[in-house]
Amino acid sequence: MATNAEINGQNKENQAGRHQEVGHKSLLQSDALYQYILETSVYPREPEPMKQLRQNIMTTSADEGQFLNMLLKLINAKNTMEIGVYTGYSLLATALALPHDGKILAMDINRENYELGLPIIQKAGVAHKIDFREGPALPVLDQMIEDTEYHGSFDFIFVDADKDNYLNYHKRLIDLVKVGGLIGYDNTLWNGAVVAPPDAPLRKYVRYYKDFVLELNKALAVDPRIEICQLPVGDGITLCRRIS
Ligand code: SAM
Ligand code: CA
Repeated sequence: MATNAEINGQNKENQAGRHQEVGHKSLLQSDALYQYILETSVYPREPEPMKQLRQNIMTTSADEGQFLNMLLKLINAKNTMEIGVYTGYSLLATALALPHDGKILAMDINRENYELGLPIIQKAGVAHKIDFREGPALPVLDQMIEDTEYHGSFDFIFVDADKDNYLNYHKRLIDLVKVGGLIGYDNTLWNGAVVAPPDAPLRKYVRYYKDFVLELNKALAVDPRIEICQLPVGDGITLCRRIS
Protein backbone atom coordinates (compact mmCIF):
# COMPACT_ATOMS: atom_id res chain seq x y z
CA MET A 1 0.00 0.00 0.00
CA ALA A 2 1.38 3.46 -0.86
CA THR A 3 2.24 5.79 1.99
CA ASN A 4 1.25 9.45 2.22
CA ALA A 5 4.73 10.38 1.11
CA GLU A 6 4.30 8.20 -1.97
CA ILE A 7 0.93 9.77 -2.73
CA ASN A 8 2.50 13.22 -2.32
CA GLY A 9 5.43 12.23 -4.51
CA GLN A 10 3.07 10.97 -7.19
CA ASN A 11 1.15 14.22 -6.91
CA LYS A 12 4.23 16.26 -7.68
CA GLU A 13 4.91 14.15 -10.75
CA ASN A 14 1.28 14.34 -11.80
CA GLN A 15 1.25 18.08 -11.31
CA ALA A 16 4.08 18.28 -13.85
CA GLY A 17 2.32 15.88 -16.21
CA ARG A 18 -0.95 17.61 -15.80
CA HIS A 19 -0.49 19.89 -18.80
CA GLN A 20 -0.60 16.79 -20.95
CA GLU A 21 -3.61 15.37 -19.13
CA VAL A 22 -5.83 18.45 -19.05
CA GLY A 23 -7.07 17.58 -22.52
CA HIS A 24 -8.76 14.60 -20.88
CA LYS A 25 -9.97 16.62 -17.94
CA SER A 26 -11.62 19.46 -19.78
CA LEU A 27 -13.70 19.83 -22.89
CA LEU A 28 -12.77 23.50 -23.33
CA GLN A 29 -11.38 24.33 -26.78
CA SER A 30 -7.95 25.19 -25.46
CA ASP A 31 -5.88 23.51 -22.79
CA ALA A 32 -4.28 26.88 -22.09
CA LEU A 33 -7.66 28.34 -21.19
CA TYR A 34 -8.38 25.46 -18.86
CA GLN A 35 -4.95 25.84 -17.27
CA TYR A 36 -5.73 29.54 -16.79
CA ILE A 37 -8.91 28.67 -14.85
CA LEU A 38 -7.02 26.18 -12.69
CA GLU A 39 -4.11 28.46 -11.95
CA THR A 40 -6.17 31.63 -11.42
CA SER A 41 -9.24 30.45 -9.54
CA VAL A 42 -8.88 26.83 -8.51
CA TYR A 43 -5.39 25.87 -7.31
CA PRO A 44 -4.85 28.99 -5.16
CA ARG A 45 -8.05 28.21 -3.25
CA GLU A 46 -7.86 24.43 -3.19
CA PRO A 47 -7.70 23.25 0.43
CA GLU A 48 -4.31 21.67 1.25
CA PRO A 49 -5.74 18.17 1.92
CA MET A 50 -7.48 18.22 -1.47
CA LYS A 51 -4.17 19.12 -3.13
CA GLN A 52 -2.63 16.11 -1.44
CA LEU A 53 -5.40 13.81 -2.65
CA ARG A 54 -5.44 14.95 -6.25
CA GLN A 55 -3.87 12.04 -8.03
CA ASN A 56 -4.47 10.88 -11.55
CA ILE A 57 -6.81 10.44 -14.45
CA MET A 58 -9.52 8.73 -12.31
CA THR A 59 -9.66 11.57 -9.80
CA THR A 60 -12.31 14.25 -10.17
CA SER A 61 -10.65 17.38 -11.59
CA ALA A 62 -9.84 20.24 -9.22
CA ASP A 63 -12.29 22.65 -10.87
CA GLU A 64 -15.08 20.07 -10.56
CA GLY A 65 -14.14 19.51 -6.91
CA GLN A 66 -14.43 23.26 -6.33
CA PHE A 67 -17.79 23.29 -8.13
CA LEU A 68 -19.17 20.39 -6.07
CA ASN A 69 -17.99 21.99 -2.85
CA MET A 70 -19.79 25.24 -3.62
CA LEU A 71 -22.92 23.52 -4.95
CA LEU A 72 -23.28 21.51 -1.74
CA LYS A 73 -23.00 24.67 0.35
CA LEU A 74 -25.53 26.49 -1.86
CA ILE A 75 -28.13 23.78 -1.38
CA ASN A 76 -27.31 23.35 2.33
CA ALA A 77 -26.74 19.66 1.79
CA LYS A 78 -26.58 17.53 4.92
CA ASN A 79 -27.39 13.96 3.96
CA THR A 80 -25.50 12.82 0.86
CA MET A 81 -24.37 9.75 -1.05
CA GLU A 82 -21.43 9.04 -3.32
CA ILE A 83 -21.14 6.08 -5.67
CA GLY A 84 -17.52 5.68 -6.83
CA VAL A 85 -15.01 6.93 -4.27
CA TYR A 86 -11.60 5.84 -5.60
CA THR A 87 -9.05 7.64 -3.35
CA GLY A 88 -11.63 10.14 -2.16
CA TYR A 89 -11.09 13.47 -3.92
CA SER A 90 -14.78 14.23 -4.60
CA LEU A 91 -15.57 12.64 -1.23
CA LEU A 92 -13.28 15.12 0.52
CA ALA A 93 -14.73 18.01 -1.53
CA THR A 94 -18.14 16.87 -0.24
CA ALA A 95 -17.07 16.22 3.34
CA LEU A 96 -15.47 19.68 3.60
CA ALA A 97 -18.69 21.31 2.35
CA LEU A 98 -21.08 19.59 4.76
CA PRO A 99 -21.86 20.83 8.26
CA HIS A 100 -20.22 19.04 11.21
CA ASP A 101 -23.17 16.64 11.53
CA GLY A 102 -23.43 16.08 7.76
CA LYS A 103 -23.34 12.54 6.38
CA ILE A 104 -22.01 10.80 3.28
CA LEU A 105 -22.90 7.24 2.45
CA ALA A 106 -19.90 6.35 0.27
CA MET A 107 -19.69 3.20 -1.81
CA ASP A 108 -16.92 1.60 -3.82
CA ILE A 109 -16.02 -1.95 -4.79
CA ASN A 110 -12.43 -1.16 -3.80
CA ARG A 111 -11.60 -0.32 -0.18
CA GLU A 112 -7.84 -0.21 -0.72
CA ASN A 113 -7.96 2.95 -2.78
CA TYR A 114 -10.26 4.58 -0.24
CA GLU A 115 -7.81 3.66 2.53
CA LEU A 116 -4.94 5.24 0.60
CA GLY A 117 -6.68 8.60 0.84
CA LEU A 118 -8.27 8.10 4.25
CA PRO A 119 -5.35 9.45 6.37
CA ILE A 120 -5.61 12.75 4.51
CA ILE A 121 -9.38 12.86 5.06
CA GLN A 122 -8.87 12.04 8.75
CA LYS A 123 -6.25 14.76 9.09
CA ALA A 124 -8.73 17.21 7.55
CA GLY A 125 -11.08 16.36 10.44
CA VAL A 126 -14.02 15.24 8.31
CA ALA A 127 -13.77 11.41 8.33
CA HIS A 128 -16.56 11.14 10.94
CA LYS A 129 -19.06 12.26 8.26
CA ILE A 130 -18.28 9.25 6.06
CA ASP A 131 -19.98 5.86 6.19
CA PHE A 132 -17.91 3.82 3.70
CA ARG A 133 -19.38 0.58 2.33
CA GLU A 134 -17.17 -1.71 0.32
CA GLY A 135 -18.91 -3.54 -2.51
CA PRO A 136 -21.12 -2.92 -5.51
CA ALA A 137 -23.56 -0.07 -4.97
CA LEU A 138 -26.62 -1.62 -6.59
CA PRO A 139 -27.48 -4.14 -3.83
CA VAL A 140 -27.08 -1.41 -1.19
CA LEU A 141 -29.50 0.78 -3.14
CA ASP A 142 -31.93 -2.13 -3.45
CA GLN A 143 -31.87 -2.61 0.31
CA MET A 144 -32.55 1.07 0.88
CA ILE A 145 -35.44 0.96 -1.59
CA GLU A 146 -37.00 -1.89 0.43
CA ASP A 147 -36.79 0.19 3.59
CA THR A 148 -39.08 3.17 3.00
CA GLU A 149 -37.25 5.12 5.73
CA TYR A 150 -34.62 6.04 3.12
CA HIS A 151 -37.08 7.23 0.50
CA GLY A 152 -36.70 10.94 -0.26
CA SER A 153 -33.94 11.23 2.35
CA PHE A 154 -30.87 12.43 0.38
CA ASP A 155 -30.12 16.07 -0.39
CA PHE A 156 -27.38 15.23 -2.87
CA ILE A 157 -26.09 12.11 -4.62
CA PHE A 158 -22.90 12.05 -6.70
CA VAL A 159 -22.55 9.15 -9.16
CA ASP A 160 -19.04 8.54 -10.50
CA ALA A 161 -18.69 4.78 -10.93
CA ASP A 162 -19.53 2.08 -13.49
CA LYS A 163 -21.15 3.95 -16.38
CA ASP A 164 -22.93 0.80 -17.62
CA ASN A 165 -25.02 0.90 -14.43
CA TYR A 166 -25.97 4.59 -14.34
CA LEU A 167 -29.49 3.93 -15.60
CA ASN A 168 -29.92 1.16 -13.03
CA TYR A 169 -28.76 3.61 -10.37
CA HIS A 170 -31.12 6.28 -11.67
CA LYS A 171 -34.14 3.96 -11.32
CA ARG A 172 -33.38 3.65 -7.61
CA LEU A 173 -31.85 7.04 -6.81
CA ILE A 174 -34.91 8.91 -8.04
CA ASP A 175 -36.78 7.44 -5.05
CA LEU A 176 -33.95 7.98 -2.57
CA VAL A 177 -33.23 11.65 -3.35
CA LYS A 178 -35.67 14.11 -1.83
CA VAL A 179 -37.99 16.20 -3.96
CA GLY A 180 -35.93 19.35 -4.61
CA GLY A 181 -32.70 17.40 -4.05
CA LEU A 182 -29.97 16.80 -6.63
CA ILE A 183 -28.35 13.83 -8.31
CA GLY A 184 -25.11 14.54 -10.18
CA TYR A 185 -24.07 12.06 -12.86
CA ASP A 186 -20.42 12.44 -13.73
CA ASN A 187 -18.64 11.96 -17.08
CA THR A 188 -21.76 12.50 -19.16
CA LEU A 189 -19.71 13.99 -22.04
CA TRP A 190 -17.42 10.98 -21.88
CA ASN A 191 -14.22 12.62 -23.04
CA GLY A 192 -16.11 14.09 -26.00
CA ALA A 193 -16.88 10.58 -27.29
CA VAL A 194 -20.64 11.24 -27.19
CA VAL A 195 -20.21 13.04 -30.53
CA ALA A 196 -17.41 10.85 -31.96
CA PRO A 197 -18.11 9.32 -35.39
CA PRO A 198 -18.52 5.51 -35.37
CA ASP A 199 -15.03 4.97 -36.85
CA ALA A 200 -13.22 7.32 -34.44
CA PRO A 201 -10.13 5.72 -32.88
CA LEU A 202 -11.36 5.52 -29.27
CA ARG A 203 -9.64 3.74 -26.45
CA LYS A 204 -11.33 0.40 -25.77
CA TYR A 205 -12.98 1.34 -22.47
CA VAL A 206 -14.11 4.69 -23.89
CA ARG A 207 -15.79 2.87 -26.78
CA TYR A 208 -17.38 0.29 -24.46
CA TYR A 209 -19.01 2.83 -22.13
CA LYS A 210 -19.93 5.36 -24.83
CA ASP A 211 -23.28 3.75 -25.69
CA PHE A 212 -24.27 3.58 -22.02
CA VAL A 213 -23.50 7.27 -21.58
CA LEU A 214 -25.51 8.12 -24.73
CA GLU A 215 -28.43 6.05 -23.45
CA LEU A 216 -28.29 7.73 -20.05
CA ASN A 217 -28.22 11.23 -21.56
CA LYS A 218 -31.24 10.44 -23.72
CA ALA A 219 -33.18 8.99 -20.80
CA LEU A 220 -32.42 11.92 -18.48
CA ALA A 221 -33.43 14.41 -21.16
CA VAL A 222 -36.98 13.02 -21.29
CA ASP A 223 -37.48 12.05 -17.63
CA PRO A 224 -40.44 14.14 -16.38
CA ARG A 225 -39.55 13.56 -12.71
CA ILE A 226 -36.47 15.75 -12.95
CA GLU A 227 -35.17 19.07 -14.22
CA ILE A 228 -31.70 18.75 -15.69
CA CYS A 229 -28.66 20.83 -16.42
CA GLN A 230 -25.68 19.30 -18.22
CA LEU A 231 -22.52 21.25 -17.50
CA PRO A 232 -19.20 20.99 -19.37
CA VAL A 233 -17.26 20.92 -16.10
CA GLY A 234 -14.61 18.21 -15.87
CA ASP A 235 -15.78 15.46 -18.18
CA GLY A 236 -19.36 16.70 -18.09
CA ILE A 237 -21.71 16.52 -15.13
CA THR A 238 -25.48 16.30 -15.43
CA LEU A 239 -27.34 17.72 -12.48
CA CYS A 240 -30.82 16.32 -11.98
CA ARG A 241 -33.19 18.09 -9.62
CA ARG A 242 -36.05 15.88 -8.53
CA ILE A 243 -39.35 17.66 -8.99
CA SER A 244 -41.86 14.87 -8.32
N1 SAM B 1 -15.08 10.13 -7.45
C1 SAM B 1 -13.72 9.61 -7.45
C2 SAM B 1 -12.70 10.74 -7.24
O1 SAM B 1 -13.08 11.91 -7.18
O2 SAM B 1 -11.51 10.41 -7.14
C3 SAM B 1 -13.38 8.86 -8.73
C4 SAM B 1 -14.17 7.60 -8.92
S1 SAM B 1 -13.47 6.53 -10.14
C5 SAM B 1 -13.69 7.44 -11.61
C6 SAM B 1 -14.68 5.25 -10.27
C7 SAM B 1 -14.79 4.35 -9.04
O3 SAM B 1 -15.97 3.57 -9.16
C8 SAM B 1 -13.64 3.37 -8.88
O4 SAM B 1 -12.98 3.60 -7.64
C9 SAM B 1 -14.31 2.01 -8.91
O5 SAM B 1 -13.75 1.07 -7.99
C10 SAM B 1 -15.75 2.35 -8.51
N2 SAM B 1 -16.77 1.38 -8.95
C11 SAM B 1 -16.78 0.67 -10.11
N3 SAM B 1 -17.86 -0.13 -10.15
C12 SAM B 1 -18.55 0.08 -8.98
C13 SAM B 1 -19.75 -0.44 -8.42
N4 SAM B 1 -20.46 -1.37 -9.07
N5 SAM B 1 -20.16 0.01 -7.22
C14 SAM B 1 -19.43 0.94 -6.54
N6 SAM B 1 -18.29 1.47 -7.01
C15 SAM B 1 -17.85 1.04 -8.21
CA1 CA C 1 -15.55 11.07 -12.91
